[in-house]
Amino acid sequence: MSKAQETVLEIDLSALKHNFDYLKSKLQKNTKFLAVVKAFAYGSDADAIALYLQELGVDYFAVAYTSEGVVLRDAGVTKPILVLHPLPVSFETIIERCLEPSIYNWKVLDEFLQVASDKNQKNYPIHLKFNTGLNRLGFNLEDIEPIHSITNASEAICIKSIFSHLAASEDLTEKAFTEQQIRAFTSITEKFITVFDYKPVLHLSNTSGILNYPEAHLDMVRSGIGLYGFGNSEKENKNFIPVAKLKSVISQIHHIEKGETVGYNRAYKSEATMTTATIPIGHADGVGRQYGQGKGFVIIEGQKAPIIGNVCMDMIMVDITSIDCEEGDEVIIFDASHTAEHLANTAQTISYELLTAISQRVKRVIKK
Ligand SMILES: *Cc1c(COP(=O)(O)O)cnc(C)c1O
Repeated sequence: MSKAQETVLEIDLSALKHNFDYLKSKLQKNTKFLAVVKAFAYGSDADAIALYLQELGVDYFAVAYTSEGVVLRDAGVTKPILVLHPLPVSFETIIERCLEPSIYNWKVLDEFLQVASDKNQKNYPIHLKFNTGLNRLGFNLEDIEPIHSITNASEAICIKSIFSHLAASEDLTEKAFTEQQIRAFTSITEKFITVFDYKPVLHLSNTSGILNYPEAHLDMVRSGIGLYGFGNSEKENKNFIPVAKLKSVISQIHHIEKGETVGYNRAYKSEATMTTATIPIGHADGVGRQYGQGKGFVIIEGQKAPIIGNVCMDMIMVDITSIDCEEGDEVIIFDASHTAEHLANTAQTISYELLTAISQRVKRVIKK
């Protein structure tokens, strides 16, 4: 029987290498690879993940916010870092820490040009984001000429790449829409090249774009979830290894009589004599209340133990009536076989949400 001491998120760097190699095997030799390490590298450990990927020869990193890029620079990441959603308040920091902003609208373009020229920059690299149907961030085709007029007059910046983001690349029932996005991006790049008279780096594909739309790989791809071990389909999941394993320990076992209740609001009522285990992980650690009431389950001694009643802030109670186990035994919340995607699906959500919710209170252990 495996014993455990506390709740730990184990990060397996050999799984990360496997996923990186698999994704790269889908690309042409000269296609660049950008690793998306936003949100603590999808809830794992941004420093450890980024430093290892840097060692493996990744070309680029991306984060959502400037503060995340600063953390990577402090950790020793020297590769270029694209900040996907910077806000003007952080533009000075962006330049001071050699981070590269995604510029997605006029306000952000104007303010960045101002800060870059105030700081006497020459050819500071920026990335232009275009909207091709996600309707989240980005310029449109018609903006290219006016962008040219404005940026051509400035020595402070240079447009290093142009990019867009796919809305449903994992969903093959939306193939027609994705193909329309790819065509829209092609029109944008053709117009950009005509107006600016040079070709910047072009990128469009996230993980599922890499797997499902080879024609959309272009000069660089941006992968997040795939690196962490999920292919967004039953078939592709088999080619990946989840990097994160979340485990905990049985802190107490209770024998419950028929008619007793378990947990807050007496949300679980026992229908027969039963046994429960209390586990030190709760909604403050990232296992939300949506996993309670019998929806989610953990694995103890290789068997399913459903989460009963309400998830507490720091604990869950699970049904171990038919499991032979004792206090101090290991509990798997998710791992490579009971995956974060399986657990997420029990609460009608996706692996991305469960992984990124694992709070900073949970200890990270890096396995090489
Ligand atoms: C988060 C993000 C990605 C990564 O997407 P995955 O599906 O995790 O591969 C790529 N591009 C942009 C713009 C993103 O915001």
